[in-house]
Amino acid sequence: MPESAEEVYARVVAQVGEDGHLPMPPMGDWDIFPWVVVDGEIAPRSLRPPSDEEPRWGESPDKPCGSCAGFDPDTVVWEDDVWVLTHHGKPSGLPLVLTLHPRDHLDLGELTDDQASQLGRITNRLVRIVENLPNIGRVHTMRIGDGGSHLHQWFVARTARLTHVLGSPTLDWDDVLPPGPEHVWRADLRTVAEKLANWGGQGGS
Ligand SMILES: [Zn+2]
Repeated sequence: MPESAEEVYARVVAQVGEDGHLPMPPMGDWDIFPWVVVDGEIAPRSLRPPSDEEPRWGESPDKPCGSCAGFDPDTVVWEDDVWVLTHHGKPSGLPLVLTLHPRDHLDLGELTDDQASQLGRITNRLVRIVENLPNIGRVHTMRIGDGGSHLHQWFVARTARLTHVLGSPTLDWDDVLPPGPEHVWRADLRTVAEKLANWGGQGGS
């Protein structure tokens, strides 16, 4: 069962106190991060002039596709003949962060109608499964795809009633909040795998 808002909050307070600040994630290394501190105030970063787009992973010989090289079996939550659902190897700040990939090297916009239909059905089931876990408020799902050209759709679960963690900044909190217990995270992954496998495919190792 995912942790409650009270359990997450208590862990943060134990680390930094009630009004304390958690450690800064390495956003200073992200030159795409849009905010910067100027004279003690947060301000939008200066906009760089236009330039050529960088090739994404899988679009250049020196940037091979990691997904086509094979999914690490230790990260596979569920799979069938066409799709693979993975996690990122260890707990992070949010209760569950999963990505769904086609086995073939395809991006969104390149799927057949059948593949697109499968993606829609799996998305709908997965959101229902995770949102029905105790203490989960919502699952945000998105495809960004600016880094890798092999489709990877995100499923980002947030804790119910932890109402500071809301909306599109939820993903930033994943790097800020201290990760929860690994045994809780693994039990939730097993529940997701079992419930998805009720429709088809199989859970990972
Ligand atoms: Zn690929």
